[in-house]
Amino acid sequence: MATAVAPRVFKNFINGEWVESRSGKAYENRNPANTDELVGMFVSSAEEDVDAAVDAAKEAYKKWRLVPAPKRAEILFRTAELLVQRKEQFAKDMTREMGKVLAEARGDVQEAIDMTYYMAGEGRRLFGQTTPSELPNKFAMSVRQSIGVCGMITPWNFPMAIPSWKMMPALISGNTIVLKPAEDTPLSAYHLVQVLTEAGIPRGVVNLLSGDGPGAGAPVSKHKDVPVISFTGSTAVGRIIAMACAPDFKHCSLEMGGKNIIIVMEDANLDLAIDGAIWGGFGTTGQRCTAASRVAVHKSVYKEFVSRFVDRAKSLKVGDGLDPSTEMGPCINEQQLNTVMSYVEIGKNEGAKLLTGGNRLESGPYAKGWFYAPTVFGDCTPNMRIAQEEIFGPVVTVIPIDSLEQGLDVANGVPYGLSASIYTRNVNRAFQATRDLYTGIVYVNAPTIGAETHLPFGGTKQTGNGHREAAIAAIDFFTEWKTIYIDYSDKLQRAQIDNA
Ligand code: NAD
Repeated sequence: MATAVAPRVFKNFINGEWVESRSGKAYENRNPANTDELVGMFVSSAEEDVDAAVDAAKEAYKKWRLVPAPKRAEILFRTAELLVQRKEQFAKDMTREMGKVLAEARGDVQEAIDMTYYMAGEGRRLFGQTTPSELPNKFAMSVRQSIGVCGMITPWNFPMAIPSWKMMPALISGNTIVLKPAEDTPLSAYHLVQVLTEAGIPRGVVNLLSGDGPGAGAPVSKHKDVPVISFTGSTAVGRIIAMACAPDFKHCSLEMGGKNIIIVMEDANLDLAIDGAIWGGFGTTGQRCTAASRVAVHKSVYKEFVSRFVDRAKSLKVGDGLDPSTEMGPCINEQQLNTVMSYVEIGKNEGAKLLTGGNRLESGPYAKGWFYAPTVFGDCTPNMRIAQEEIFGPVVTVIPIDSLEQGLDVANGVPYGLSASIYTRNVNRAFQATRDLYTGIVYVNAPTIGAETHLPFGGTKQTGNGHREAAIAAIDFFTEWKTIYIDYSDKLQRAQIDNA
């Protein structure tokens, strides 16, 4: 006889303890490939929970900032080792809550592992500068100092990687954390925090709050005792966060939307370009900030490219990401699916040629999930809405071009500037493109996705506000420079005056 088992309720982590939300409310987290499957219940946080988490982080900061960075690093190394041990379990849970295929979920956990090891290594560096003073018997140097409580608000598409990109550099630099992950993917953030606790992170240094954006995220972004906000998500919400940060002049890093492009020149290796466009366009169901949602193809190879690209898109196996033969999973939720469907209508109405897809998949194995067919629009013009706006789904617009110059104009002619790619065997064109593409990331003969954790990540224009994640750039964001002059001359020495 079947027994009804109450679903597990995952709690907030505040001041070293797993606690209910003050309101006692919780919400469901369901599998987007099979909405019958309840992944778990997660508590809904509100302002009073945020206050408790910030208080804990503020108190913990007093001690954590004074722990030597190499000692902080030991906790990060242990965290990375635990992540390695649990990679498979965490990847499966990620696929269940987010839908990306298992190989990609493993990659997401691996990115967190890479970032954690990398930032642990920084514990024995965190270099500043020493430089000669312009005055005799005077020493000059600059050191990095931590800032305080860092609020982190993250999206659902990289449920463990993105929180790790923010948490690890913040922690190694001596800051404490209040993390509010996306409401669709709290389990992966829960796992990350769990391993940090097992690795010995002191009480209050890391705090986790589940809940939605307006209820739990907004109070973090506005809190007076949170001097740093690191946000990744849509441009629309990024603008709200920037305004919430402005009155207190908070340090505010915004990583937002993208409308990325692959340019295919007439001398490109077409096999390679098609592989890249398929992976760039339909990997993670097109739900990557770096997804190649536009492909600009030189007219002399346009026909061949489009016919082969469409054949490949048609043959992609869509399904549950836990099935090893699946190549593309579902959209994250009903709202995202509706957005995709509405953009497909917009594309048809503005005269783009629907070459494949354009329909929801809802029968048989797809009946219980948010599945959509891989979709390609051809003969697009650069100013169509489907070629300008972020769709965040499995929809690729193909735009014919006559020249590299036109390709670069098309590439740069959108409000975003995250990632761009060119396929060519001509070294002059490749270098010209790397110079003239106004994006934070450029690839040559590789698709728009594939960031490595020790290089800066981020974008221009409405993708970002000038900061970068990952690499040393992340340390730059989570620290402030302090310049120190030590005068051992035993007399008053005036810079710019006594040495003139
Ligand atoms: P989203 O903007 O809807 O939500 C992001 C986070 O903000 C979530 O945690 C959400 O709860 C929170 N939030 C929503 N409203 C809020 C408010 N008023 N105040 C405070 N927090 C609030 O984005 P999403 O749908 O989760 O993610 C998809 C978007 O993220 C896409 O636009 C994608 O391009 C972008 N993204 C960008 C990068 C990058 O590095 N540039 C990386 C991944 C995703």
